[in-house]
Amino acid sequence: MFDFILKRNKPDAVENFLTVRGRQIPLAVIRNHRARRYLLRLRPDGSVRLTIPRRGSVIEGRWFAERNAEWVGRQLEKLPAHPVKPKQWLDGTEILFRGETVKLEAGENGESGLIRFGGEAVKVTDHGADLRPAIERHLWRLAAKELPPRVLEYATLHQLSVRRISVRNQRSRWGSCSRRGTISLNWRLIQTPVFVQDYILIHEIMHLREMNHSSRFWREVERACPDCETAERWLKQHSSLLK
Ligand SMILES: [Zn+2]
Repeated sequence: MFDFILKRNKPDAVENFLTVRGRQIPLAVIRNHRARRYLLRLRPDGSVRLTIPRRGSVIEGRWFAERNAEWVGRQLEKLPAHPVKPKQWLDGTEILFRGETVKLEAGENGESGLIRFGGEAVKVTDHGADLRPAIERHLWRLAAKELPPRVLEYATLHQLSVRRISVRNQRSRWGSCSRRGTISLNWRLIQTPVFVQDYILIHEIMHLREMNHSSRFWREVERACPDCETAERWLKQHSSLLK
């Protein structure tokens, strides 16, 4: 809508981009009669809003914006990465699998629609398309097969009873435990090393004993899982796995 107004108002016509460090950043020009000076603001979507005060002009506003392009550049650096859309996985992309970096590889000559990585083979319909959905489904299936039996093993070892285990597609957590005794695990645990998986399994199991993060709870976890600090550190370093 803004482009439209700018193009119609001949005297104020300007290109509605600001060049910042060689990049073209969309620029929205807004008149505000209550504004007392020119204002520049970076919007969360990475575009820039220029406010023109009463008696100001778009031309002067543009000069103001251009003088402050370096400031915009610095603000852009601080902005979280856009867009939010997850990155594509393609033939040759490296992913984490059981804590190791493995490469997604199409078989020679397209080998009947197979992608291989870390000893796994996944059927795909199109090598050239985003492989992520198919690979993630496969990882989820693996997690659902491998993790619940280990939860039960640990539960038996520590004489605790679990009512239900689900392996889910959470976005913000590795696992959780409900008062009713349900343990939910994130399928992405299959991307982490076994000692990290163990830590999360033990952490959730110990919530069956202590439904909080009190020092008593942590004592129980540490006793059952001597590696828990290293595991916590690994998870912090790889927090982008959840994004
Ligand atoms: Zn917890």
